[in-house]
Amino acid sequence: MNLLNLLNKRDLIINYLDSLFNDSKIELNYSNAYELLVAVILSAQTTDKQVNKVTKNLFLKYPNFNSLKDANINELEESIKSIGLYKSKAKNIINMANKIVNSFNGEIPNNLNDLIKLDGVGRKTANVILSNVFNVPAFAVDTHVFRVSKRLKIADDKDSFIEVEKKLMSFFEKNTWQKLHHQIILFGRYHCKAVNPNCNNCNLINICIMGDK
Ligand code: SF4
Repeated sequence: MNLLNLLNKRDLIINYLDSLFNDSKIELNYSNAYELLVAVILSAQTTDKQVNKVTKNLFLKYPNFNSLKDANINELEESIKSIGLYKSKAKNIINMANKIVNSFNGEIPNNLNDLIKLDGVGRKTANVILSNVFNVPAFAVDTHVFRVSKRLKIADDKDSFIEVEKKLMSFFEKNTWQKLHHQIILFGRYHCKAVNPNCNNCNLINICIMGDK
């Protein structure tokens, strides 16, 4: 793709996403960095809506890393059992809280290498924390971002999550990553869905694999 086409494609995507999701933000409920970290870990393979239902009481019972690290595993499992993988998530968030208190002086680390040492924290979660807590430009690739990037031919079909992340970071300018990350998640969740995407009413059809068919 020549430079002009690339810039046109980038502008088309940015403008369209702005028109659909101008005021985009994370759909998990949280009021501080501790709550966001717990909520993002709990959100793996479940919906933000489900997580929000659970965290409402969870954060009252365990309001910080100290209380969470001392949680009784059975009680914690009971509190979160309506979400998927609750047993491993309960174990992960207790271990994560222990590590934050004992290895990081009670502070969430502000870099990817240390973040991914925490139980339950992979590259995606680490990037969400970097972006939303520390205001560090990052592109967290979840299942929606992964799918949309491939459909829009920003990434290749065979690319891994980390390759998609790298391609997104080189395709879009750094100062747009934080906003676009949220917008692409919403686009994938509500418009370019995994099943039955809304292609008949999509301005991106001409730059999408669906337009090639
Ligand atoms: Fe998604 Fe369809 Fe739009 Fe392509 S044309 S971006 S698959 S909704």
